[in-house]
Amino acid sequence: MTPLYNILDKDKLDWTTGLTLFGCLLILPLLYQYFSRRYKCAASLQHPFVPKQPSINPNEWNDLEFMSKETLSPDTALYHFKLKGEREMLKVPTGYYVTVRVFLDGKEEIRHYTPVHPNENVGHLDLIVKTYILGQVSKYFTHLKPGDKMSFKGPMGEFVYEDVQTTQLGLVAGGSGITPILQVLSEYMYNPESLQRVSLIYLNERIDDILLKDELDAMAQRYPQFQVHYVLHYPPTEADVKCSGKHWDGDVGYITKKEMEKYLPECTDDHRLLICGPPDMTDLVLSHARSLGWNSGFQKSKGDCKVFVF
Ligand SMILES: Cc1cc2nc3c(=O)[nH]c(=O)nc-3n(C[C@H](O)[C@H](O)[C@H](O)COP(=O)(O)OP(=O)(O)OC[C@H]3O[C@@H](n4cnc5c(N)ncnc54)[C@H](O)[C@@H]3O)c2cc1C
Repeated sequence: MTPLYNILDKDKLDWTTGLTLFGCLLILPLLYQYFSRRYKCAASLQHPFVPKQPSINPNEWNDLEFMSKETLSPDTALYHFKLKGEREMLKVPTGYYVTVRVFLDGKEEIRHYTPVHPNENVGHLDLIVKTYILGQVSKYFTHLKPGDKMSFKGPMGEFVYEDVQTTQLGLVAGGSGITPILQVLSEYMYNPESLQRVSLIYLNERIDDILLKDELDAMAQRYPQFQVHYVLHYPPTEADVKCSGKHWDGDVGYITKKEMEKYLPECTDDHRLLICGPPDMTDLVLSHARSLGWNSGFQKSKGDCKVFVF
């Protein structure tokens, strides 16, 4: 083989070597251009949903367009908002939420909502919102028309989950408090590192208030390590059953210490208790938890507290 210094030796440069060198100089930039374009293209195919600037961020308000809604129960609906990137997927850590801002009679009102399946939805942000009769922002949602804009910030939150350290999870949700709990279930149920048991108590006022029951029941059927127990404050009366055909075989009343003892994991180093619901429910669950030996996370929860209130 001709050594390189020989080729570059100008005394020995013949016309074929000159042509080869010239060809190389011409073709190398073209090859570089071709391969760098292909690499960029392949990279964008692998991550088509990661735009340079996500539609929303935690530091400033960004408007998203309301697209449509689906009714889930008499007072709850699933609201779809359009993300700026058609193939964008919002990266929302488990247990994190987005913040919404509206102006009502000129006064700023800010509330938090937990995105539903954010790591699966492409091009849209979905929120389940329960409307309260006196609720200002939740009522505002019900008046949205396709094309209306709403201001968002996020994701925000502090929930931390150490999956290798947790072997059993106890979950208590009330009403629309099921939304962060569903995020936790979606994240950890399908791919449990060390989870041996996940047990949920879901509290509602009436049978029609239970959100995502089909989804929860399907999960319980599919994953033997997951159990769900429903508790209703007002179970259907005989007249209701006659009318709707919906029987009730779950528990009745407010959540009791006995139910928590029966359905949830006991307090040990590798078990956690996660709670999300209205303040009255949360206080009651925390007081039962305390008397069952759970002893941390009772003030403002830190992300990694054994007992975490969303
Ligand atoms: C981290 C976090 C995540 C949340 N995620 C969701 C979610 O995914 N979906 C959702 O629907 N809500 C969620 N919420 C609750 C939400 O932020 C609002 O508090 C709720 O929509 C009520 O706001 P509002 O302006 O309609 O009611 P407000 O005007 O603030 O309250 C008016 C009245 O509404 C009733 N009310 C308000 N909140 C509750 C409640 N929690 N339980 C019972 N009665 C109540 C009371 O009667 C109250 O007096 C979340 C809250 C937090 C802190």
